Amino acid sequence: MINSSVDFQGVLEEIEDEVRPFFGQGKNADYIPALSDVPGHKFAMAVQTVDGETFMIGDAEENFSIQSISKLFTLMQVLGLEDVDIWSRVGREPSGTAFNSLVQLEYEKGIPRNPFINAGAIVVTDILASRSADPSRRIDDYYRMLSGNPANKVDEVVALSEQEHGYRNAALANLMRSFDNIETPIPDLLDVYFRQCALTTSCVDLAKAALPLVCGGYSPIAQSQVLSGRDTKRINALLLTCGLYDAVGSFAYKVGLPAKSGVGGGIVAVLPKHFSIAVWSPELDASGNSLVGSKALELFTTKTDLSIF
Ligand code: GLU
Repeated sequence: MINSSVDFQGVLEEIEDEVRPFFGQGKNADYIPALSDVPGHKFAMAVQTVDGETFMIGDAEENFSIQSISKLFTLMQVLGLEDVDIWSRVGREPSGTAFNSLVQLEYEKGIPRNPFINAGAIVVTDILASRSADPSRRIDDYYRMLSGNPANKVDEVVALSEQEHGYRNAALANLMRSFDNIETPIPDLLDVYFRQCALTTSCVDLAKAALPLVCGGYSPIAQSQVLSGRDTKRINALLLTCGLYDAVGSFAYKVGLPAKSGVGGGIVAVLPKHFSIAVWSPELDASGNSLVGSKALELFTTKTDLSIF
């Protein structure tokens, strides 16, 4: 049972104070100016409970770049489609390598290890793109539906910068194409992938958008069953084992929640049947996860004694 006596707002306020010494220890993503220029000491958290309550601290309504967290929502969207076989094209194992690594793809014949490394996410986006006239619009609309905020949109500057620096993603897509694991013409596919990474959102919207993973596939915001209970369980398992780049074991050890991070400094996590929580702090640790964000989530589950373990 959830500990209903937890003072979520009080806990968030304590955490905001306790994470202060950790600012300056990480470093913003620097592969594009739009990410390196974000003030490093930004901090936000938002909790969304199954009872419809929202708790927040810091810049929780300020937008940031969703980046890799978008991989979670395209996976949810594709699993919600009829007659899709993702798992013959993408694996379900932690990669143990960098999120943008090419190495395993070569000897695993173009089948990415999981849907949350870049190669796997590009295949998931390919499945959606090969079935849609306007896949970018579809991805944006899906996220807007789940977050309940029609103002969530692509940052065109970020999308363009992603294009300009997208050599590795292009290499991944081409290598997978050589193994017949990509259907969409590659420039079109990369455009869709870069645009999904360039979506902007806030912690409050992100926590709302993750609610289907808390509520057995039901979105209380969209008032719609967007995933089956079985796929919800499966996605949460993949988040726990593959959602945090190459630091997924340490994150599970310290935080104990299924989660997905992005190089914009966001992390979204869920405790099924209880709450979703989003945090944003742009400075990253050596693994590419928000340093202060990871610390804040560790403090949250420790103080509240609410984790899947
Ligand atoms: N747009 C980034 C890439 O595909 C996303 C990185 C991330 O958040 O992991 O390289």
